[in-house]
Amino acid sequence: MKARAMRLLLVEDEEGIGKFICQGLREAGHTVDWVQDGDKGLDHAANLDYDIVVLDLMLPQMDGLQLLPRLRDYGVKTPILVLTARDAVEDRVRGLNAGADDYLVKPFDFSELLARIHALLRRPPLQTTNLLKVGDLEMDTLRHVVRRDGRVLDLSQREFMLLEYLMRNAGHVLTRTQIGERVWGFDFYNESNVVDVYIGYLRRKVDKNASIPLIQTVRGVGYRLSADENAD
Ligand code: CA
Repeated sequence: MKARAMRLLLVEDEEGIGKFICQGLREAGHTVDWVQDGDKGLDHAANLDYDIVVLDLMLPQMDGLQLLPRLRDYGVKTPILVLTARDAVEDRVRGLNAGADDYLVKPFDFSELLARIHALLRRPPLQTTNLLKVGDLEMDTLRHVVRRDGRVLDLSQREFMLLEYLMRNAGHVLTRTQIGERVWGFDFYNESNVVDVYIGYLRRKVDKNASIPLIQTVRGVGYRLSADENAD
């Protein structure tokens, strides 16, 4: 089993800390979206799928303690690791009560942050949507296995993330920008053709020799994964 690349949301207004965390996580092979205020944090965490949210409590606009209960009210079950200032014991307690899963006191070593993140991810998942199925294409996101018509497909990490995103949105058209931001992260450049290149890689593995191609090009818009040729 390959080590799984994570998708993380970082909500942190301080440039230095934000850059430090982003750089470390990206070097470790993970995808990070970094936003710098509570409103954007809520919007991202509520609308996109992340493995974990790293949330600073002191933020402009909506702060972390306001954001936390609203996220949980929306039904977002993503593990949340809260960052707090030294000695802000009250904030820590309030953060945990408001729905955080763990906290880390600033300043911290990157290795400590990574260890806490891994510990949170080892907890049993709250939702059991590990098995995805579109036609005869099946993905087990927990075991990191993909099969088409019973045959195991050998996908790279990035191909796996791309296919997972397509499968979770099966039947819906996704734009290159949506795909790029989701799979390559917030710093994705729209003018790059990386999405098309990877769709090409995936097609060769997923649709090769198959009677029904699942990966469909929607001209001028993007891509759609569907077992129905007339899907809309
Ligand atoms: Ca802050």
